[in-house]
Amino acid sequence: PIESWDVVVIGAGAAGLMCAIEAARRGRRTLVIDHARAPGEKIRISGGGRCNFTNAGTTPKNFLSANSGFCISALKRYTQQDFIALVRRHGIGFHEKTLGQLFCDGSARQIVDMLLRELNDAGGELRLATSAALPDRVEGGFRLATSAGPLVCASLVVATGGKSIPKMGATGFGYDIAGRFDLKVTPTRPGLVPLTLDPALLERLAPLAGIGLPARATHGKARFDEAILFTHRGLSGPAILQISSYWREGDEIALDLAPGTDVFAALRAARGENGRQAPGSALAALLPRRLAQLAGDTHAAGRNLADLSDKALRQLALAVNEWRFKPAGSEGYRTAEVTLGGVDTADLDQKTMQARAVPGLFFIGEVVDVTGWLGGYNFQWAWSSGWAAGQAA
Ligand code: FAD
Repeated sequence: PIESWDVVVIGAGAAGLMCAIEAARRGRRTLVIDHARAPGEKIRISGGGRCNFTNAGTTPKNFLSANSGFCISALKRYTQQDFIALVRRHGIGFHEKTLGQLFCDGSARQIVDMLLRELNDAGGELRLATSAALPDRVEGGFRLATSAGPLVCASLVVATGGKSIPKMGATGFGYDIAGRFDLKVTPTRPGLVPLTLDPALLERLAPLAGIGLPARATHGKARFDEAILFTHRGLSGPAILQISSYWREGDEIALDLAPGTDVFAALRAARGENGRQAPGSALAALLPRRLAQLAGDTHAAGRNLADLSDKALRQLALAVNEWRFKPAGSEGYRTAEVTLGGVDTADLDQKTMQARAVPGLFFIGEVVDVTGWLGGYNFQWAWSSGWAAGQAA
């Protein structure tokens, strides 16, 4: 007889483990399979090894999706406070780093171990190094051929994550399953990713590689006040990663490199005090020295402040307060923290994550077209959507 389960979850990542814990706790005979050798690998490497496991200030506004209201129900039913309570119950120390971002004091491993202990206590089973073929619909559920033999299950939960970091086992398998059952998949692209610059601009900015500074990144209505970092390929740092999720090829981004400072007023005051200063020296009071130098050299080469009209000063100030440029591209899935787009939420029930047209089929976590900002939001989506499916599978 063919092996039979109530619930099979594909993907032992953040969302899949949470879902399996909840389903097993409800008494459902639950199996999680993963083609990787270890569960929760992205949890383990996340947050620089400390796992930014949630954000204390999570709201639906911190997520991108073609349907901005889709995430509300799950986030409300299983909140960041619920996950924080779980972390506390396991005695895991944590701290707020900045902007509500909660990190383990020790290691991200503690979060993986916590989930495995919960799964074990609930009676769920985990099968690693197990791959699966595309599932088929059969009477009463699904049939799944795996490398450990065929299975049938009443509920099938797809928790295979996004495409980012292919080196770690990310695949497009979840999108293929959606396609097989005629669910729509919105176009996917890398998110929370460093941006690259065209060779000419990159060459001009080469002396700045390694410099970080607080800035304000703007694209349309999206705006982030966090650090940026000049790199050998272009720009990175939290403000750039955040804005990258809103950016589309061909679009411009604006950076305020001295947020909160009226650079024109500051330059005018400096000119009044000491007109013989080079503009770059005056700007060095506001910016890292190499950046100040480069801005001065680019916009007022060979002149001192007294040589510059208000108009010229204003132009220089604008290059600092509102530097507009077109990124050439992004570093792509190789370094992206998340995948934007995914299984179209219009085809899913927002309370349970179940496919509207395919009873028993669920999609949770990053494979769904819901993507969080940088700062613990993506894990909170994994916990919330996983929990929601775990109540219904
Ligand atoms: P995943 O955690 O990616 O899990 C998917 C699982 O499915 C994997 O175990 C994979 O092996 C398995 N799988 C895939 N394809 C198949 C297949 N064909 N067959 C069987 N199994 C399969 N988010 C935060 O909130 N805070 C952070 O600090 C943070 N840091 C990050 C750092 C890095 C470097 C990266 C890449 C991401 C980070 N993220 C962070 C994002 C976060 O890791 C993801 O959003 C989250 O892991 C998504 O959870 P998931 O369960 O949907 O997918």
